[in-house]
Amino acid sequence: MMLSKEFKMDTEKSAIFIIFGGSGDLAHRKLYPSLFRLYKTGLLKDHFAVIGTARRPWSDDYFRGTVITSLEESFDDDKKIMEEFAKHFFYQSHDVNDSEHYIALKNLAAKLDDQFEAGHNRVYYMAIAPRFFGTVAEHLNSEGLKTKDGYNRLVIEKPFGRDLDSACELNGNISKAFPEDDIYRIDHYLGKEMIQDIPNIRANNPKFEAALNNKYVSNIQVTLAESLGVEDRGGYYETAGVLRDMVQNHIMQIIGSIASDDPEAKDAGVIHKNKCDLFASLKNLTPEEVDKNFVRGQYDTDELGDEKAYRQEDKVAEDSQIETFTAGKVEFNSKRWSGVPFYVRSGKRMPNKASRIDIVFNEKVSELGIKPNTVLTLLIERTNDHSILINGIDYKESGQDFIKFPEEPEFTKACEAYESLIIDILSGNRVHFTLWDELRSTWKYIDSIRERWDSQKADFPNYISGTMGPDSAEMLLERDGNSWIWD
Ligand code: NAD
Repeated sequence: MMLSKEFKMDTEKSAIFIIFGGSGDLAHRKLYPSLFRLYKTGLLKDHFAVIGTARRPWSDDYFRGTVITSLEESFDDDKKIMEEFAKHFFYQSHDVNDSEHYIALKNLAAKLDDQFEAGHNRVYYMAIAPRFFGTVAEHLNSEGLKTKDGYNRLVIEKPFGRDLDSACELNGNISKAFPEDDIYRIDHYLGKEMIQDIPNIRANNPKFEAALNNKYVSNIQVTLAESLGVEDRGGYYETAGVLRDMVQNHIMQIIGSIASDDPEAKDAGVIHKNKCDLFASLKNLTPEEVDKNFVRGQYDTDELGDEKAYRQEDKVAEDSQIETFTAGKVEFNSKRWSGVPFYVRSGKRMPNKASRIDIVFNEKVSELGIKPNTVLTLLIERTNDHSILINGIDYKESGQDFIKFPEEPEFTKACEAYESLIIDILSGNRVHFTLWDELRSTWKYIDSIRERWDSQKADFPNYISGTMGPDSAEMLLERDGNSWIWD
């Protein structure tokens, strides 16, 4: 909501985008449609160009054709406007290890900068396999691609490492080439409207904010559930698992939005510091605590035997130990949150897709004029007006007035996450990107779980496709006298 307003008021931006992996899935499904939306609103207009790079020897025309095809899948605009947009696209065949190719890229970027008067600004977008992130960043620096009098912003996709050691190594490589202030690490959940609205909701609802602590909260639940299996991403998933793919990044960042201090802070430095402090207070887990507080699952076929079990998916080992489901209890040592369990859960082949935060208040919250044991739900994927629920019904109809949306929506169509993040990159706003210090703390925490799991063979598969995961996920909460709100 706030975002749409800033967006409307903003003026045209100028930059040369260099997209590494310009022929890839992310570029076509997310980046080009997002850039097109920005073009239609005028944020990108005359002073921008996009260089797509990949290994294939494409011509500019062929590349433009692929861009237009990707737009036609999402938009029904006149083809003419798509063609006008595509005139800003150029292709450069590129091998990430070849220094000569970076020189060619530098020259093309300089030429396009003159042609489009792009202000010497560069956005280097890594839409490429993570193993190339460090190599590309180093070459951008060593081959002198960075301009002197514009900005040079490096955008890194997830995953940022696969454990603390590899994340440290990657960070070492990119920070030799780019200062932290110019690094934009993407976690696309931070581009979602509801997540961006959480600080506004907290800042504009004093009773709610006063209740967000261990005096009044019984527990907080974060669920990111998918109904699909791994589809054609089995090869990638075998190297990840849901703990790395969803918990280390998205779930931790969602917790950061709801649980960090001082939601009124406007300064990116303060906001990041508060999040870093929160993650630094994560309560470490001993191996025995991992066994007690985290459960893992892997999907089997469905009741009828129609769906593939995970181990039958393409590029998945027959005896795979990779988890497709996890549920856990995360705790913090901070003054504000000590004693409050944050139950997290994410899985594939669950009954429905769901992305939600359920905040369960205790009895004492009546001191603040909130009904005892109220459950406040924030639905992260906002599909209609019913995005905040109180005890399962729309908050406006709940009869409780401790929560209001700060502003009514001005636009019917919300910004897509990638669109919003690209606006931030162009505006130099790093609030909705992850800092290295945050990642260091969350990786350390996740590693302690991963190491324990890797040392013990799991009894997989252990949940039927289309169910809520293994029974142990229910028991995790029952043991504490709690239960999942989304069930
Ligand atoms: P992809 O395999 O579809 O595309 C990879 C791109 O890299 C292609 O353009 C390919 O030509 C290029 N490439 C490969 N080897 C190269 C080399 N040696 N030199 C130069 N170019 C080379 O991958 P993707 O799905 O688009 O993912 C790209 C990145 O985005 C990955 O880091 C991925 O983890 C991340 N990501 C993707 C998605 C998604 O929805 N696809 C979502 C989140 C994050």
